[in-house]
Amino acid sequence: MKRIYLSLGSNVGDRRGHIRRALELLPAAGVGVRKVSSFYKTEPVDFAPQRWFVNCVVEAETDLLPLQLLKALQTVERQLGRRPAVAKGPRPIDIDILLYENVVVRSAALTIPHERLAERRFVLVPLGELAGRMRHPVTQQTVLEMLHDTPDTSQVIRLKSE
Ligand code: ADP
Ligand code: MG
Repeated sequence: MKRIYLSLGSNVGDRRGHIRRALELLPAAGVGVRKVSSFYKTEPVDFAPQRWFVNCVVEAETDLLPLQLLKALQTVERQLGRRPAVAKGPRPIDIDILLYENVVVRSAALTIPHERLAERRFVLVPLGELAGRMRHPVTQQTVLEMLHDTPDTSQVIRLKSE
């Protein structure tokens, strides 16, 4: 079993419901969820004129290899009704691979660790809740150090209950 961290986000319709549904679908896709962060309301950063997102991070275990994992997550995205649309635009669910053990992948289809991990407060804040002292396998920075150093100033607001 490999330990992985995933980012889940939604900014269409019942955003929390979409995330909860994705969490329910992950086990059948081969991803055993171990910990779920709080849910956060987050300001869109990549493509501003759209609704705020709800985001969370999960710690999980899987036997899937990185590319198999990407395909499995894309299947879950489609099960939640995601269709090819504007890149960075509105979507019922986005599931990104943040970390896969200490593995480094650099290919056209897949970059692990996620290439914008250190530039996204909406990822670093929930990840810090689960694993603040964990280190980025390339830069060796901890999650809390990345959060301290990130130039991103977008708002990330913890929601009271899920
Ligand atoms: P984004 O997540 O950047 O808003 P998409 O979800 O549409 O956009 O993803 C675009 C492509 O990013 C995917 O088709 C996938 O091949 C690629 N990708 C590269 N690295 C990763 C990763 N670590 N996790 C998820 N997708 C990734
Ligand atoms: Mg994505």
